[in-house]
Formats: sequence, C-alpha cells, structure tokens
Amino acid sequence: MVAGHKVRESHLLDYATAEQISNAIIHGARELECPDCGSTLRCSVQEGTDIEGRPIRLAKAFCMKCPFILR
Ligand SMILES: [Zn+2]
Repeated sequence: MVAGHKVRESHLLDYATAEQISNAIIHGARELECPDCGSTLRCSVQEGTDIEGRPIRLAKAFCMKCPFILR
C-alpha cells in the first residue's frame, strides 16, 4: 500500500470551474489563479462566431506551470 502523497484531481475537465474562469475572463479578469496549481493563468478573449454566425467572445486561458488549459 502506498502511503502519503495523494494526487489531486485536475480541474481540467471540470465544467463548473471552466465556466467560472470563462465568465471572469469575459468580464475583464486577467489575473486569475490556476485551479490546479495556483500559479497565474495567461488569459485572453478571442472574438469568434457561433454556429449561426453571430459574434461571440471566447475566453482562453492557460497555465504557465501545469497542463491546465481553458478553451
Ligand atoms: Zn496550473
């Protein structure tokens, strides 16, 4: 039996966390903490279109220290 170090589950596929980060970025937040490791996320907003061709804003973020990415 392995004692001690338990690997923390990544938030990479956590929809609620992604939604929260995404909303914050769209509303102007740029200094967000990575939900996985706590370092600063690089955030940006990309202009795009939805499937019906309407303009939408897409939040993008990635962590500089771990594999966490929002897209
Ligand atoms: Zn991270």
